[in-house]
Amino acid sequence: MKNTINMNTYQADKNGYYGEFGGAYIPEILHRCVTELQNTYRSVIESEEFKAEFDQLLQDYVGRPSPLYLAKRLSEKYGCRIYLKREDLNHTGAHKINNTIGQILLARKMGKTRIIAETGAGQHGVATATVCALMDMECIVYMGKTDVERQHINVQKMKMLGATVVPVTSGNMTLKDATNEAIRDWCCNPANTYYIIGSTVGPHPYPDMVARLQSVIGAEIKKQLLVKEGRDYPDYLIACVGGGSNAAGTIFHHLDDQRVKIVLAEAGGHGINSGESAATIQLGKVGILHGTKSLVMQSEDGQIEEPYSISAGLDYPGIGPMHANLAVTKRATILAVDDDEALAAAFELTRLEGIIPALESAHAIGALAKVNFQPTDVVVLTLSGRGDKDMDTFINAM
Ligand SMILES: *Cc1c(COP(=O)(O)O)cnc(C)c1O
Repeated sequence: MKNTINMNTYQADKNGYYGEFGGAYIPEILHRCVTELQNTYRSVIESEEFKAEFDQLLQDYVGRPSPLYLAKRLSEKYGCRIYLKREDLNHTGAHKINNTIGQILLARKMGKTRIIAETGAGQHGVATATVCALMDMECIVYMGKTDVERQHINVQKMKMLGATVVPVTSGNMTLKDATNEAIRDWCCNPANTYYIIGSTVGPHPYPDMVARLQSVIGAEIKKQLLVKEGRDYPDYLIACVGGGSNAAGTIFHHLDDQRVKIVLAEAGGHGINSGESAATIQLGKVGILHGTKSLVMQSEDGQIEEPYSISAGLDYPGIGPMHANLAVTKRATILAVDDDEALAAAFELTRLEGIIPALESAHAIGALAKVNFQPTDVVVLTLSGRGDKDMDTFINAM
């Protein structure tokens, strides 16, 4: 048993474990390049040279810091003070670009020349293709054939940016299958290829690395709260979870601060008991998926179950090991927000604040009604992305 009283227990240990979750479960052929990455990432991303270039690009290319906006009408409705962390205003429309910029700088530093990525809805694929154009690197994006057909505009964007999009026809032809294919490519080309994973999933060091790169969100929240509220911590941090990267970035600097309550919203789909859900933390059992030990949606005999959510970005049968540990240690409260609740929340935010959120982010908004706030509570909710990509779904719902 790991010591759960240790202050640092919510962060990864040196082998990439968060309590019982995490680690690196990889085929022998990847051993060398994963070990190389494990031995390199901290020293590179903590170097002055990296930080200077990363911070400059976050500022001038992404548009950071993203505003911390006091949403007055939303606050009035829920009886507390709600700030929105505006990741929707970033270049390419979501938080994903923070991570892809960081990882491509690392790839370049490691002398890699070829970038591969997996994508579901296409947001991570677009963010990866974007930084590959910026850094003049070859880019191959694996995407399930079903998603290629559903997410036509993002496919066209990736192609316009110069990426090769490979439709994957195995399994259900969605994100899980695209990830398998990207791992297969990596096994064939370990020497020159860098795999940019889009969330806090995959073998160590990815969950910790992605959390660190996204932790710019939480670092800005601290500074901005200090100015606006005179204290650098809120009473609540709220975020949606797919693989967990925007949530990890939001909570990173407050994980060990017990004054801060953490609420994570996962996708309930048609309801957690409907058989059509992506509420991985509540429905998952301990298992290994894509190189990490975590909670996984699986049948009695260990077959991965197909998740379902109205929101493509939350439609993943696994969850980051950090979040699995936060759930089992009860450091975080996990709420399932169903499709209809998320849709209603998206319309509510649009009409109250004039902000059309991504469907993923709307799950975080949908969680507000499930928490009992005090009037003095300061709440920071991360709006992970904008709703442009979800207009077809919104139009169908109107
Ligand atoms: C991809 C995506 C998510 C889910 O990914 P996390 O790694 O859990 O953050 C959430 N919101 C938006 C807008 C996304 O594009």
